Amino acid sequence: MRPDILNPLFTDITALNGVGPRIALLIQKVAGPLIVDLTMTLPVGIIDRTYQPGTAAAPDGIRATFQVRVESHHPPPKLKTRQPYKVICSDDSGFIVLIFFHAKPDWIEKSYPLGSHRIISGKVERYGGELQMAHPEINLPANEAAAMPLIEPVYPLTAGLSGKIMTKAVAQALARLPDLPEWLRTDIIAKHQWPGWKEALLQAHRPTDKMGLNPQARDRQRLAYDELLANQIALQLVRQANRKLPGRVLPPTHILREKILGALPFQLTQAQQQALSDIDADMRSENRMIRLLQGDVGSGKTIVALLAMVNAVENGAQAALIAPTEILALQHFDTLKKLTQGIDIQITLLTGSHKGQERQAILRGLEAGYVDILIGTHALFSEDVHYHDLAMIVVDEQHRFGVHQRLALQEKGRRADVLVTTATPIPRTLALTTYGDMDQSRLQEKPPGRLPVDTRALPMQRLNHVIEAIGRAIDRGEQVYWVCPLVEQSDRLSLTAAQERYDMLRRYFPDKVGLVHGKMKSVEKDQAVEGFYRGEIRILVATTVIEVGVDAPNATIMVIEHAEQFGLAQLHQLRGRVGRGDKKSTCLMLYQADEQGQLGETAKARLQIMRQSEDGFLIAEEDLRLRGAGNALGTEQSGFPHYRLADLAEHKSLLEMAHDDARLIVQDNPKLEGSRGNALRILLYLFGRDEAIKRLRSG
Ligand code: ADP
Ligand code: MG
Repeated sequence: MRPDILNPLFTDITALNGVGPRIALLIQKVAGPLIVDLTMTLPVGIIDRTYQPGTAAAPDGIRATFQVRVESHHPPPKLKTRQPYKVICSDDSGFIVLIFFHAKPDWIEKSYPLGSHRIISGKVERYGGELQMAHPEINLPANEAAAMPLIEPVYPLTAGLSGKIMTKAVAQALARLPDLPEWLRTDIIAKHQWPGWKEALLQAHRPTDKMGLNPQARDRQRLAYDELLANQIALQLVRQANRKLPGRVLPPTHILREKILGALPFQLTQAQQQALSDIDADMRSENRMIRLLQGDVGSGKTIVALLAMVNAVENGAQAALIAPTEILALQHFDTLKKLTQGIDIQITLLTGSHKGQERQAILRGLEAGYVDILIGTHALFSEDVHYHDLAMIVVDEQHRFGVHQRLALQEKGRRADVLVTTATPIPRTLALTTYGDMDQSRLQEKPPGRLPVDTRALPMQRLNHVIEAIGRAIDRGEQVYWVCPLVEQSDRLSLTAAQERYDMLRRYFPDKVGLVHGKMKSVEKDQAVEGFYRGEIRILVATTVIEVGVDAPNATIMVIEHAEQFGLAQLHQLRGRVGRGDKKSTCLMLYQADEQGQLGETAKARLQIMRQSEDGFLIAEEDLRLRGAGNALGTEQSGFPHYRLADLAEHKSLLEMAHDDARLIVQDNPKLEGSRGNALRILLYLFGRDEAIKRLRSG
């Protein structure tokens, strides 16, 4: 149960004065449905009303404040209501004309009484010699000047929601802030000279200058830390609960492993061996394994995953490998079959194309225990799929999975060890916030002997050269990927782009081009991708990253159109699709420069990094630096937690601190007891991490 002390914050925003259902919808868009959401929506700018130049000196186009006397009113001539109502005011140095469109004359007369002294503030413009201000933002009697805030916070707004309404709502929300017990350690607070939580929030909402918006301001740091700490503690609690789940003791006998290794034409890399020994230790232990195996495309995760599954098989149990698509499942099946040729292991594929009797036969074999390793998609967990003894689950490429989905999965495979593999190298900081509930192994070293991919950036005008180069590659019997970007917010546009490119390429290379895009039926998609996989299609035009997830060792050219629109991680991911065979490969990043023939700074930096490095982990760090955490990897679909107060690109060191702090906390006080424990529970509820608290109770 949420602590009562938080109730005033966990109340609907409609409880605030001036927030009816209509305004509530708008505020919900920029902040959220609850009062607590408003308190965590910090100003994104300030309005400075300190500038008071006098009417004669006021420059054009800036915001300024004046003390004036109202001299005369000039309503628009009758029948000419389109013309503005003008009010002429003066100060010691000259005149200013206030301009009102569509205003009610009574209202203006009342608001600007003739002869009265007023404080007005707003944007001024000069027309000819005349200084004008349209619709002053502030209009107060001069003797109430003190009521004017010299610095006003600016909040994120949306159409129909004015700054005034939002500011008023936030002020009311802040008035409800309860005094909460301190959850941070006193030495941490002292070291950083941080204010308390409430104080920090109040300060963050009342910046006194531009510095107050700086993410490194003390109040903002403190708030960011609270948010990061809540997230880290939640992850640690989940991890703690997971580790207590009874697992199976599966001591590897290495009998099958030795056979498989003996048949390999290569030796495992140091990194692969290390990952395997991490996995062996997990599987040998009584606790359940929940481990992430990270490594670039081509870093050799497959063999590691296979040997991990073989640990289960050596113990007479079963393993399952879940791929994100049926095609990838088929590919894994082919690969694993090859790696285990002549070795007594039953590997079986189960996909949607297995129907009727065939499917029944597979399911019977599975239930009877004839199948050692089952490969497929999420359908492997359909209700009619019963395992004889499932002890190990490998989930491939699930960087799109959030912590909740992972938990659901583990519940399906009772007591089974779980290994998640991802080909998306994630910067250390992001890994901490996303996979903090899992143990991690990284394959940072690549297998030897891989040819570097020749990476080039070309302006779109060189399209003809690219087509010639493709022609030569096809003549040599090689294959080509051609990726058109997904146009954000418009499936239709992205589709047209890909469709047009497809049509054009087909004119050059009849019968050799295939197309996949998100709007196709999956059967059609599969047909195209399979055609490419089998080598019938030589050029595959695609709109998205996932569709080109197939492994075609014969593909030697990756063309990325509008490369400037892709993030670094995506570019890297795409490039990883070539250079997998023994032939020299090329990645051509075609970019569209602006009218001046220029490329934006960030885009330029990205393409530059791509040309310089093929290290996915390094590229991921750069991506985070260039794009900020919100955008790296596409937060929406990737299961990254969404932060409101913290910014991972800015608060990297705070995150690391929070990680260490959370570990200590959960180690020393695993049930969050006593007065500090209570304060920490409040913190978790405050940031909506109550899921973790539930686990605390069941654990
Ligand atoms: P990933 O799954 O990480 O993308 P794979 O496991 O498919 O990478 O490996 C890519 C290629 O490298 C495969 O052809 C594989 O056989 C080969 N490979 C894997 N490990 C090694 C190694 N230690 N030495 C040489 N080649 C390796
Ligand atoms: Mg793989």
